[in-house]
Amino acid sequence: MMRLPRFNYVEPRSLREAARILAGEGPSAMPLAGGTDLFPNMKRRHQVPKTLVALGGLPRLAGVRGSAGRGFSLGAGTTLTALQEHAGLRKAWPGLHEAVKSISTPILRNMGTLGGNICLDTRCNYYNQNYEWRRAIHFCMKCDGDTCWVAPGSDTCLAVSSSDSAPMLCALDARLHLVSQAGERTIPARELFARDGIKYLTKAPDEILTRVDLPPVDGWRTAYRKLRRREAFDFPVLGVAIALRFEKDVVAEARVWLGAVAEAPIEAMEAARNLAGRPLTDDAIEEASRLAFPVAKPVDNTDFGVRWRKEMSRIMTRDALRSLRSA
Ligand SMILES: Cc1cc2nc3c(=O)[nH]c(=O)nc-3n(C[C@H](O)[C@H](O)[C@H](O)COP(=O)(O)OP(=O)(O)OC[C@H]3O[C@@H](n4cnc5c(N)ncnc54)[C@H](O)[C@@H]3O)c2cc1C
Repeated sequence: MMRLPRFNYVEPRSLREAARILAGEGPSAMPLAGGTDLFPNMKRRHQVPKTLVALGGLPRLAGVRGSAGRGFSLGAGTTLTALQEHAGLRKAWPGLHEAVKSISTPILRNMGTLGGNICLDTRCNYYNQNYEWRRAIHFCMKCDGDTCWVAPGSDTCLAVSSSDSAPMLCALDARLHLVSQAGERTIPARELFARDGIKYLTKAPDEILTRVDLPPVDGWRTAYRKLRRREAFDFPVLGVAIALRFEKDVVAEARVWLGAVAEAPIEAMEAARNLAGRPLTDDAIEEASRLAFPVAKPVDNTDFGVRWRKEMSRIMTRDALRSLRSA
């Protein structure tokens, strides 16, 4: 049986108090939301925080506000189940609905939050193992060791971004609101993620993600496609997130993002450029899917063969785009 390490558990009564505790304790403290990723990680000794700062009791972090017309504001502490069941959100942003619905299992979605999903740790076959397994290979660069076993010559960790919501929020150009004792700031979702499996978020350890602001729907249509071994539940080994803004029958703006094929969500810029300014014809879809293909550069650190995952980036981009013709 894997046991949790010892830790202090604090339940701040306000965001300000949470920020103060995190700033005071330094990197040995971590925010805790639903715990569906953090607790398993702690059991495997990936993270051994001295203090967990529970965000669950902070009312400012929970709930969905706004509307499709004005733009929704999603509290980072909102559970994935609450997001999945929000009828307005589902109608406005079906791509986000699909992404959220595909995360883990119904029971885990009852606990797991949007903020936890966005800040989800990167994953790797050599990392997501118990302590004894990792010790047997002298650990890896991401935790306790020096070598990246996926590519021993690499000087950075190649663990893969495995959040389903992250690529979709990048495609939506969502804004993330961060709070710490030093102040508040709002950044585009794309700026939160870094191409480094160890330091995969650009935010400081004591910054709390408080809310996610979505733009008004205003002609945007969205789709999300996910590749995984078990349809019942599994982390993505490829996620395709697409947002297109239509003016009549013409694609006025396009965003195509791939998840789970690199240390951060990556943008297929050429594919998006090629879609803009023309109707979404079969030819346009084929060309964009071909242009998304070279952007996906999966490495052998998760499930399925890398060639097939790469090939599926083309097929799933095509499938997602086709679904947007009739959306
Ligand atoms: C069996 C299983 C299957 C899973 N399948 C998937 C899947 O298919 N797709 C997927 O994306 N995920 C999957 N997950 C991972 C996890 O359940 C989800 O990502 C969930 O959304 C994490 O949210 P949480 O609230 O439980 O986060 P926690 O575990 O509480 O936290 C995760 C990380 O985020 C940080 N954090 C949390 N909230 C904040 C905040 N507001 N501000 C700053 N930092 C914060 C924590 O410090 C921690 O580092 C799976 C997990 C399990 C156990």
